[in-house]
Amino acid sequence: MGLRLTVLGHCSPYPRPGGACPGYLVETACTRVLVDCGSGIVARLGRTASGPAGLDGLDAVVLSHLHADHFSDVLVLRYAADAAMRLGRRSGPLCVYAPAEPAVEFGLLSYRQALRAVPVDPRRELGVGDLVFRFTLTRHPVPTLGMLIEAGGRRLGYTADTAYDPALAGFFEGVDLLLAEATFTEAWAGGRADEAGHMTAEGAARLAARAGARRLLLTHFLPLLDPAEVGRAARAVYAEAEVSVEGTTYEVW
Ligand SMILES: [Zn+2]
Repeated sequence: MGLRLTVLGHCSPYPRPGGACPGYLVETACTRVLVDCGSGIVARLGRTASGPAGLDGLDAVVLSHLHADHFSDVLVLRYAADAAMRLGRRSGPLCVYAPAEPAVEFGLLSYRQALRAVPVDPRRELGVGDLVFRFTLTRHPVPTLGMLIEAGGRRLGYTADTAYDPALAGFFEGVDLLLAEATFTEAWAGGRADEAGHMTAEGAARLAARAGARRLLLTHFLPLLDPAEVGRAARAVYAEAEVSVEGTTYEVW
């Protein structure tokens, strides 16, 4: 196995019926990290591995930011991690890396001996097993971490939530796969995406083209919008755009 990404959920800011808010499993042969943990993710994580909520073998959780659609299921992951400790299936706390602000939300992440919140300094890289994370702050109303995740010479970019920012193209330059938020289409947002701190499908596509990303995988879909429509809008700008499908694993090559 090289570097692989499983999209557990891609709805925002609330899940469509049967769907889940953002959450992604990033894996190599020896490392498993959950990136974001919105509503519905704990149930889906349980399908990916054994043990309470699929926690066996999970090395860390990395949260892009502390808006509810990206972290609310950590509040129940606390109980699953606690159960895993009591059953002897985990020997130490699961680290949850996240921005330190807002402080009230950050304070909810640690739980007994089971979960330990660790603030991320975006200027420093973070190693978890054989994965290396690098961060950049994006344009969003709370501190939000765009991520470059590398293993074995493969590079996965994740925009997290952000308004369109051409400076991000430098950070994501030449990635093998760019996982990008595409909350609206230009037709739907009518120019309001930027002030909302989000991107349109067309913006995500422009960013991928500027960065020279080999592939673009779209995520963070409004339940009110048809993802196929989002995909069409992106492909009009960048032909390599793909609409992510919940429950699907993508090899980063
Ligand atoms: Zn979001």
